[in-house]
Amino acid sequence: MTQPLVYKFGGASIKDAKAIQRIAQLLKNNWVNNLVIVVSAAGKTTDRLEELIALSFEGKYFDGPLFELLDFHLDLCKGLFEDDHPIFIRVENHFAHLRRSLENSAIKENQDFFYDQIIGYGELISTRIFQEYLCLKGCPCLWQDARELVSTDSHAKIARVDWALTMQHCRKILIPKLETFPVVTQGFIGKDLQGNTTTLGREGSDFTAAIMGVSLGASSVTIWKDVAGILNGDPDLFPDAVKFEYLDFEEAAEMTYYGASVIHPKTIKPLSKHGIPLHVKSFFNPTTAGTVIGAFGQAPRIPITIIKKKLTLIELKIRDLSMLGGFHFDYIYDVADKINAEIQFIQGAAAHINIIINPLSMEDDQIIKAFQDIFQVKVTRNLKLVTVKNPSLSEIEHYRRFDNELLLEQRSPDLIQWLFED
Ligand code: ASP
Ligand code: MG
Repeated sequence: MTQPLVYKFGGASIKDAKAIQRIAQLLKNNWVNNLVIVVSAAGKTTDRLEELIALSFEGKYFDGPLFELLDFHLDLCKGLFEDDHPIFIRVENHFAHLRRSLENSAIKENQDFFYDQIIGYGELISTRIFQEYLCLKGCPCLWQDARELVSTDSHAKIARVDWALTMQHCRKILIPKLETFPVVTQGFIGKDLQGNTTTLGREGSDFTAAIMGVSLGASSVTIWKDVAGILNGDPDLFPDAVKFEYLDFEEAAEMTYYGASVIHPKTIKPLSKHGIPLHVKSFFNPTTAGTVIGAFGQAPRIPITIIKKKLTLIELKIRDLSMLGGFHFDYIYDVADKINAEIQFIQGAAAHINIIINPLSMEDDQIIKAFQDIFQVKVTRNLKLVTVKNPSLSEIEHYRRFDNELLLEQRSPDLIQWLFED
């Protein structure tokens, strides 16, 4: 068998019937046997499911939003299938299961566990619809439950992949199927050793595509998006933003770390380790080259601007001057780890240390308590971190206009970071 290919389609690419028709045509034009198609939940389904989970967990009424979500999926099907197609019963059945799970008090002990048992319905349903539609359009393919493939630990909402087991499953289950037909499967979900559903973190379907790519030794992974590829800045802010044709793994990984949201941060590392190129292409213009991420070495010093929002600044001030000396970085990283805070940026002076963390669902007073042994703590939320790699005058001048909202700055010759109120 020739090496498999992996394609990934996100929620926006299948947000309504017209969008699904577009993707089916794209696939038809590129149809090959050994293709794995990883699909997310349709449109904003995952957000809607998060709302349902919260309502149900708090014992509130969730019928209205549940029916709305069912209607959204049935409407989608109406635009794709004849009225008597069995997909309608199938979707209704999935929703009956979803309702039962939402009502199941046995899985409600812990909110994060409950979340994992429910949130993947979006993907389970969208992949059924998508696979049936491809078959109808003359692209016969198989449906595969990704939980049989992706093995993880039991860490709720952000499970870690067991690579050895996952590789075994992918080879044993997928390779024989791919010899005859392409396979449609879900992004985002996996299964732990106890057989419970787990998830890889929001927007985790890109990561699933990388997991499949690595496990199967794919020749490449392609993420199909509604943008032309990876640009060096937001075109709304920088009208002369340019698309990278080629981007080195390391540079792409750094960009996702600083907040570039085109690809999920965990996607690059496994692909880079196995030398599998990652294509980012537009589903609106499938024949136009997008960006290829691979082992190309550092690009010329093009300025790259990345903006990350909803960050929290934690200002730490030493309580007692007798504690001066030693920057207490070990203590800070330990506490951050305990409260599951991912540090994005740290800046230290003798008695003051500032850390910026990614969005965290924890009250201010809990954060303050976590650090209070050594520090007086101030928490400020809703901040925006602008990172410019290889800055030129144009970026510096653009952001100088916002100087009055500037909270922090960090500079080295090839990197500037500014923290602003948002
Ligand atoms: N559907 C999930 C989410 O919206 C996973 C994904 O789309 O990547 O987060
Ligand atoms: Mg999504």
